[in-house]
Amino acid sequence: MLAKMGSGMSPCAACKLLRRRCARDCVFAPYFPPDEPQKFANVHKVFGAANVNKMLQDLPVHQRGDAVSSMVYEADARVRDPVYGCVSAISSLQQQIALLQNQLAVANAEIVCMRMQQAASNAVSLKSSPQGTPPEMSSPLQPRSPELQHYKPATKALEKGEALWT
Ligand SMILES: [Zn+2]
Repeated sequence: MLAKMGSGMSPCAACKLLRRRCARDCVFAPYFPPDEPQKFANVHKVFGAANVNKMLQDLPVHQRGDAVSSMVYEADARVRDPVYGCVSAISSLQQQIALLQNQLAVANAEIVCMRMQQAASNAVSLKSSPQGTPPEMSSPLQPRSPELQHYKPATKALEKGEALWT
């Protein structure tokens, strides 16, 4: 906005780099102020000014700021990592998700195992002392058995995560 108003004085970063006159309705001016030249330089290098122009023109004004932010992010990542760009960040985060979902599935399986062992030992002590186990000792087993169902969604979520990545 500031750049738009002062367009008569200093062109936006895009027009400055492209060595052209910054028009009053310059599509780049609101998003590429003259004090951040590197922001447009990378976007231009990666996407090309004409493509950025077209992408912004195709969007409603209220979505252009977000589009510029994502293009700047992608372009900066591509300049830093010419091979993977922002995909390196995405894939490392997806690997983390898969790893954590695995850990969650293992932890849930351990819980199920422990519950079953506890149930078995309770059954044994119930046998050895017929009047033995007070009701509070055996009752936790019933509300906790739904954990068995929790175990499956965890593995399902993992499959979903893998499907997303492939
Ligand atoms: Zn301009």
